[in-house]
Amino acid sequence: MGRKSDKLTCYEVQHSIKEYLQEEMSLQDAAAFVKHVRSCPACREELEEYYAFSSALMQLEALEEGEEKGNFFLNIEKRLERTELAAMRFKNDHRARRILYIVMAIVLAAVMGVSMGV
Ligand SMILES: [Zn+2]
Repeated sequence: MGRKSDKLTCYEVQHSIKEYLQEEMSLQDAAAFVKHVRSCPACREELEEYYAFSSALMQLEALEEGEEKGNFFLNIEKRLERTELAAMRFKNDHRARRILYIVMAIVLAAVMGVSMGV
């Protein structure tokens, strides 16, 4: 991978599921991957199926070897969130952070206004 655009086709996404789960992708590619999966039910399903399947395999291996491989059993949703968080941190977008603080301040003010008023 490693293209400039973060638009991926379903074919590309479904053929990089393994790469994503094994964390062999650059953060940029992983973020594009997650973005696609978020908005594409077909790829999301494909990912969940692959994940369930490979989790079962890992579990079997772990049992045979008597090992704990806890990390791999992260919920797929947690896994996606982790990529998104990492990508967000990577961008280190102070402007976005400032907007977030402003929004939070507005929400907080609204909540306090509601609870104090009346
Ligand atoms: Zn797709």
